[in-house]
Parts: sequence; C-alpha cells; structure tokens
Amino acid sequence: MVLDVDVRPVLTWGPTICACRSAAPRRSSCPTARAVFLDRDGTLIVDRPYQARPEAIEILPTVFEGLRLLADAGYLLIIVTNQSGIARGYFGTRALRRFHDHLGKIFADHGIRIAAFYYCPHHIAGRRPELARPCNCRKPAPGMLFRAARDWGIDLGRSWLIGDMPTDAEAALAGGCSPILVGPERARGDRRWTVVATFEEAARWITQDGGSDCAILRRVPE
Ligand SMILES: [Mg+2]
Ligand SMILES: [Zn+2]
Repeated sequence: MVLDVDVRPVLTWGPTICACRSAAPRRSSCPTARAVFLDRDGTLIVDRPYQARPEAIEILPTVFEGLRLLADAGYLLIIVTNQSGIARGYFGTRALRRFHDHLGKIFADHGIRIAAFYYCPHHIAGRRPELARPCNCRKPAPGMLFRAARDWGIDLGRSWLIGDMPTDAEAALAGGCSPILVGPERARGDRRWTVVATFEEAARWITQDGGSDCAILRRVPE
C-alpha cells in the first residue's frame, strides 16, 4: 500500500531573544559554528515600519531560495533585528514574539529553520523610560552578533551578515563578519562591503564565491 502522505520532517524554529539581557555565561570551547546573520525588515520581509501584526508579513522575492542554499551549506540562520518600536511604545515583546513565531513557521513550512531571533528594543528617543537609552546591541553596534556568537559557539570570522542598510554592514564589520547588502542604491558606494541585487544572489555569493574563504570582502560588483 502506498500512503499518500507528506513525509518531510516537521521543522521548528528558534526562540525570540532580547540580545541586551545578560545571558548565563557559556563555557564553550573554541567556537566552530558558522552563521549567516539576517537583517529582518527590508532583507527577508517587506519593510513596514513598526509593524508587529503577523498578517502584515510579506516575504521578499528569492528569500526562500536563498535561505535554502545557506541552510544546505551548513550555516546557522540567525535573525538580528533592531526593534525600537518597543522603546517607542508601538508594540510589546509579546507581539514581537508572536510575529517571529509566525515568521518562523512560514520558513519552517518551506523547509528552512531559523535558529533564533535576536532583537534590541532600545532607542534613545523611546517613550518607555527604561528602554530610552543607547545600546551596544542596536545596529550599527555589534552587540547582537556577540551575544549570538556566545550563545551558539559561532566563529564570527567565518560568518556573514546579509542586510539592506549600511548600518547592517557596519555592525557586521564591527563584529568581525563579512557583510553583504541586498538591493538599494543607498547601500552602494562603499567599498567595504558587497552589494547584490537579490537575496538569492547574496546566498550564492556566500556559498559559491565567498564560501571557501570567508575573509572580509571588499569587492563591490557592478
Ligand atoms: Mg533592514
Ligand atoms: Zn538593546
């Protein structure tokens, strides 16, 4: 008898973690994991400022294809996202968690596991006094990368960050990762990072061109 069932393993997704809260110190030996850190808004999903309703999620073109390439190449996939909407009082951490669970499920349904979602809720102009301050986790600072590296035993020098803004690339460089930016014209013109047209192209760049030697790249393709 042939059973007409879908036998793909059911994938799950990782937790939403405030990068700025101190974590239990990890006694890991030499970090060996490789990660691709992923900016969220404008890189994976359409950027709708301060939006935390799951219904508003719209995955950008070629993101599924690109993430599959990266996962198949053995990279941990970790989202790192500034969420000043929390400091500004637009939404809370529960709404953010719900949003990320929805996003994680969308990717899991496409065979892609997001290992974790790190966020920084701070902003100097926030309305919530306890969150209205500068933070080393808010990109372009590299705190989120350091926190994730500690949690997962990641070798930052063999890891990448895909984003859409120069601030993403600055965070990567400050953290010792190689940056790639997708798309916008405003990202061009700085030779310290690579700029490509689509997310899938960024993934191909990592898995084919750059994967063998993950030093910080300075080539800007035409
Ligand atoms: Mg972005
Ligand atoms: Zn923070």
